[in-house]
Amino acid sequence: MTHAGSGRKATVAAEGGPDPRTPLPELLRALDAGPDGLTSAQARERLTRYGPNQLRRHRRRSWWRELGRQVVHPLALLLWVAAALAWVSGTATLAGAIVVVIALNAVFASVQERQAERAVEALTRYLPQRARVRRDGRWQEVPTTDLVPGDVLAIGEGDRVSADARLLDGTVEVDLSALTGESQPAYRSADAPDHAGSRTEAGNLVFSGTSCLADEAHALVYATGMRTELGRIAALSQRVGREESPLERQVRRVAWLIAAVAVAVGAVFFPIGVLAAGMPVADAFTFAIGLLVANVPEGLLPTITLALAVGVRGLARTGAVVKRLSAVETLGSTTVICTDKTGTLTENRMRVTALHAGDELLDPLPERPDRPGVALCALAGAMVACNNAELRTDGAVGDPTETALLRLAAGLGLPDRPDRAARRAQFHFDPKLRLMSTVDAVGGELWLHTKGAPEEVLRRCTTVLTADGRERPLDDARRAELTRAVTEQADRGRRVLAAARRRLAATPGHPPGGAGAGPGERAGVERDLTFLGFVAMIDPPRPEVPDAVARCHTAGIRIIMVTGDHGRTAAAIARQVGITRGDATVVTGVDLDRLSADELRRLLSDRREVVFARVSPEAKLHIAEALRADGQTVAMTGDGVNDAPALRRADIGVAMGRTGTDVTREAATMVLTDDNFATIVAAVAAGRRAYDNVRKFILYIFAHATPEVVPFLVFALTAGAVPLPLTVMQILAIDLGTETLPALALGREPAEPGLMQRPPRRRTEQVIDVPMLVRAWAFLGLISAVLVLGGFFVVLLWAGWRPGDPTGPGSPLHGAYQQATTMTFLGIVACQIGTAFAARTEHASLRTVGVTSNRLLLWGIAFEIVFAALVVTVPVLRDVFGTRPPPPELLALLLLFPPVVWGADEIRRAALRARRRTATRTG
Ligand code: ADP
Ligand code: MG
Repeated sequence: MTHAGSGRKATVAAEGGPDPRTPLPELLRALDAGPDGLTSAQARERLTRYGPNQLRRHRRRSWWRELGRQVVHPLALLLWVAAALAWVSGTATLAGAIVVVIALNAVFASVQERQAERAVEALTRYLPQRARVRRDGRWQEVPTTDLVPGDVLAIGEGDRVSADARLLDGTVEVDLSALTGESQPAYRSADAPDHAGSRTEAGNLVFSGTSCLADEAHALVYATGMRTELGRIAALSQRVGREESPLERQVRRVAWLIAAVAVAVGAVFFPIGVLAAGMPVADAFTFAIGLLVANVPEGLLPTITLALAVGVRGLARTGAVVKRLSAVETLGSTTVICTDKTGTLTENRMRVTALHAGDELLDPLPERPDRPGVALCALAGAMVACNNAELRTDGAVGDPTETALLRLAAGLGLPDRPDRAARRAQFHFDPKLRLMSTVDAVGGELWLHTKGAPEEVLRRCTTVLTADGRERPLDDARRAELTRAVTEQADRGRRVLAAARRRLAATPGHPPGGAGAGPGERAGVERDLTFLGFVAMIDPPRPEVPDAVARCHTAGIRIIMVTGDHGRTAAAIARQVGITRGDATVVTGVDLDRLSADELRRLLSDRREVVFARVSPEAKLHIAEALRADGQTVAMTGDGVNDAPALRRADIGVAMGRTGTDVTREAATMVLTDDNFATIVAAVAAGRRAYDNVRKFILYIFAHATPEVVPFLVFALTAGAVPLPLTVMQILAIDLGTETLPALALGREPAEPGLMQRPPRRRTEQVIDVPMLVRAWAFLGLISAVLVLGGFFVVLLWAGWRPGDPTGPGSPLHGAYQQATTMTFLGIVACQIGTAFAARTEHASLRTVGVTSNRLLLWGIAFEIVFAALVVTVPVLRDVFGTRPPPPELLALLLLFPPVVWGADEIRRAALRARRRTATRTG
């Protein structure tokens, strides 16, 4: 290719690339591609020319825009009003201070929002998308970002299509809803006629962002990145706003409520100050404004967003990638986990341990098998023919059930590679039918090979292959005998798979079935089979699962196994991992279909130990619905295409990152990068922890209201005989310098012991509830208020003040009064340190968490102390905040404050724990 040529092509591409509706040979020429794909050198060259196959991310909001957004945030606007009022009333310092409050808060909020955004964006790293393409003449997996025009792409069931492409062969059923909004599946076929109308209606094109629901095809990529249909839409559409989580909604409501209270407190103070205490109007006014500003919780929301984002990031590291921030809190309230068996509870490492062929049961399989007989050869042959896996030197690829069958054949010294050249048609494994079949040409004849669930296979068999290779009619006695043998294996927790075959025709003419074959045709072929035997596979439970199951049980979370496997197998595994203890109720898909929605709901609420077996993916949807109707918060796992609706319906849809399909990964709220059940439990624990931590810092932030408000009550109620214990600038100093960092640190508290020994939180429970407010305001706050006022009075009395003595500027006691207000200020800071330690746990004693286990909090407190020290010692700041250091011997009193507040709460918690213990003992 000449340079000039590639230059010209680049301009064509920039204009939208070649028209995919031109006849295929022309399209191939325009793309300079062939039906056998590109070479890696070509792909590399094109990647630099066209750029990576990804949607250009929207530009981040600039720093200034973000700051600007924070500055006009509704709560900030309230503060602006306060600043304006302060300005009008002639106190420029206060007005300036409020503006500083707004500015600092805006900076803090922007930093937090940005960090939260970054944490969420980083998640995509954990879920790399891959595509199968033909390069250098063989199929390879590449990151989807490396796709280039001209690539030949393989599209299979459950795959997300990652570029716009024209089908070369095959037929697929696709979900175009991402592009067209139309949720009906559409059929796209390589043989569809060229279409002149809109591209999305063309019968032979598939598009990036859509997904394949069934069948498979190969396709020629003609557009990538922003040149795809999806890219065009993305270029048009605006950045989608992040949906607010219920937690954030609740907190926003409460923030407004508190803001309203703050306004009311300010409004009430003003007349009382003027009328009852005889304050000068201007002073009363500024103080009212100060109170208002101090109590508006403007920093609360970004702190919560960040706490959730930090939770999300932590989860991703443990193997659970959550796609919405709100999922973290939903996870914490999970009451039921509906889980698959294979691969989630078990390792998905199957090994055949027993088999039955030609009337003979080999259990266990002999180490060194003799030459396999005719029947065994037929069984293994069918299982290898009807198989899409492959054993490679660098490991096996494909469904573990199928690779186990190939390994069995290899162990027997038989061919272990499906002869793809001989295959004429395939009926995919259908989780509803629980069967898979292929039509293969064997020695000039066409044979149907079927494998699947033993009941399903047996039902379609009329004869059975004997040890000497003859076909004998399958009478009822024989059928019952085989069923019994299968059940015996299943009872030991083994996965049983049977195989059968039928000769279709003497000459390979037009094969029946294949891609796009109707269900009628399939049923017409999968009948009158000859039963060849069955194999029993073990798939050991993951070692960490029994522990995780036990953790769920102590945490009051129910586990319901939902599997396509045999009821006995399911029950045995459920028992092995501890999901059920006694005799579980096994509900099969057939039973389930007979139940009405209401009966199902009743069954689920009456019976604690239920195992669903032989159920279809649609049944999962009904189970999710029934549980939700019963008020449960449901996490549901899934991996196949058909599981997607159930995952969407559950509160937390959980997809498998390794074995699952792209379709389920898209429908899910959470993707497990390790497919492990134990990770779901870890995620629930993380969700509970994140929610708890949000409560912890709200408690902390709320607790300071009492020691700030009570002094002014004392002033008002004594009609001014006691001077105001705190100046307005000092209130702002507390609000500004001492709150934010420890609050942030509380958002990262380690989990409290007992976290998973509590029953799940109810969904209706409010994040800010009455006991919490009582603890914040009436307990921690009140103790603080008493200590703080104590400090204030001690300083005043020490200096010889008596109630009613003047303390204003110029009076002899003014210096002592300034020391006393400084004592109040420092007292509140000291008490907040105690409160921070108290807030670290809600039930447990701090000792069990470790006093120094939250480093960030220790830093926050260190900052708080330094800030307070500066306010009291640096001359400029002393003038601004009107502080004056109290006498050292009185300052030493402050050392008592934190341990008193914290200690009081330790005692309160210990008492609560004791009460709960006696309650559980007697109750
Ligand atoms: P689960 O994942 O819950 O174990 P599946 O839906 O994968 O259940 O499988 C259900 C049943 O279908 C299995 O018990 C087995 O009998 C049959 N089966 C599973 N995989 C295959 C396959 N590749 N080919 C044929 N039959 C299969
Ligand atoms: Mg499965």
